[in-house]
Amino acid sequence: MSPSPRFCCQCGSAELVRRRPLGDSHERLLCNACGHVLYDNPRVITGCLVEHEGRYLLCRRAIEPRRGYWTLPAGFMENDESAEQAALRETWEESGVRARILAPYSIFNAAGVNQVYLIFRAELVEIDAEAGVETLERRFFAPDELPWADLAYPSIRQILERRLQEQVQGHHGLYFGTAEAGQLHTLG
Ligand SMILES: [Zn+2]
Repeated sequence: MSPSPRFCCQCGSAELVRRRPLGDSHERLLCNACGHVLYDNPRVITGCLVEHEGRYLLCRRAIEPRRGYWTLPAGFMENDESAEQAALRETWEESGVRARILAPYSIFNAAGVNQVYLIFRAELVEIDAEAGVETLERRFFAPDELPWADLAYPSIRQILERRLQEQVQGHHGLYFGTAEAGQLHTLG
């Protein structure tokens, strides 16, 4: 979770108070000096499950948290880009892989850290660079090589397990919910 700001971003005052503005459903941080409301909302993380010849791209994290564990390339969306652009940019930055989006795949929120995840299914276009500084190593794993014991997060396991199951069944789904529980919609 992001730390609470100490100063008003409008006027610089340190007179910040927590209360529920009139007509609002939530308590907010308010500036006593100028009345500005400092909203704190979830942040969006986008990423890709990149496939190539039946293999799946994972990156081994070079940074905390979960350094040394395998994850999907993903990161915070920037203000000036679409979710798809952000997912492809993060994939390229972290893995050096150029990809093409195929479909949305998993939309879930991690409530404890106030993050919303938008994961897309994508296919490899080309590998055109080394993995980025946030990645120790990148690799396309065949289903029987996947590093189940060394995945960074349970949500990564859920995404991979689902994808393997769907590959057998021959259809694709769209999941949404939380990291723990949600609904799966079959897209055909
Ligand atoms: Zn202010």
